[in-house]
Amino acid sequence: MDRTHLTRFALLSLVAAIATISLKLLAWHLTGSVGMLSDALESIVNVVAAAATLWLLYLSARPPDERYTYGYSKAEYFSSAFEGALILVAAFAIGWAAVDRLLHPQPIERIDLGVVVSIVATAINLIVARLLLGAARRHDSIALEADAQHLMTDVWTSVGVVVAVLAVGFTGWSWLDPSIALLVAANIVFTGVSLLRRSASGLMDQALPPERMQRIAAILDRYRGDRIEFHAIRTRVSAGRSFVSMHVLVPGNWTVKRGHDLVERLELEIAAAIPGTTIETHLEPREDPASYEDVALDRIAPAPPAH
Ligand SMILES: [Zn+2]
Repeated sequence: MDRTHLTRFALLSLVAAIATISLKLLAWHLTGSVGMLSDALESIVNVVAAAATLWLLYLSARPPDERYTYGYSKAEYFSSAFEGALILVAAFAIGWAAVDRLLHPQPIERIDLGVVVSIVATAINLIVARLLLGAARRHDSIALEADAQHLMTDVWTSVGVVVAVLAVGFTGWSWLDPSIALLVAANIVFTGVSLLRRSASGLMDQALPPERMQRIAAILDRYRGDRIEFHAIRTRVSAGRSFVSMHVLVPGNWTVKRGHDLVERLELEIAAAIPGTTIETHLEPREDPASYEDVALDRIAPAPPAH
């Protein structure tokens, strides 16, 4: 399962970030507006985020080697956690500025070249975010999804600014501007926290999502019967890769070949139902009591306390 092609989307995000910075620097050059300059400097965060995504996606696509025998897929979680943290910092900055404006109202900016440039930059971010989200869903890439969510928080921030300018222009209520900014910040906090939480779950080897567990259960149900049983089923997710292990209990008088043929078929079926799955099975004679003493994570019962 080669995922090197996913880096192309991160590269697209990097190019888009550099393009929007150039646009804003051009607008700063034309208008001399300090706001545009600070906007351009803020966009440097997007370049850093896209570069981090590019690097970690490249790393996560590396094939297993002697040092990382299960592959590098978990590297994606560092990327998504980093993006989640960046989003939280942005939310904090927006919220801080909004509270400051609520306490010290200022005249709202007029629609000028600066706003037009930020609308163009927003359109670029929106298009790139949609492309990245599509690829992230198709390939189960949390790193790409996080970069897309990051771009979407920029989009929402800009939409909030434009809506605030229009709303204050219509009503004359200057408190609307910081209030809309606070709403945007709250929405962004939610996205950032959710990304951090999902990254942590991935790093903690969370079990596969219920939908995938059901697909596995449906396959096992077809095999299960008087002669075949399963236990110690364990799963863990690793970005675009899934790991499944289980014990398969069969009659003790089966030949090794017969048992192996069974688990081969079973493993192929599960791999076909959930692409990118690594399956390990442990074959056991179902009549032997020893087969049932290894269900827990620790195979050897812990020694009783000394006192
Ligand atoms: Zn067992």
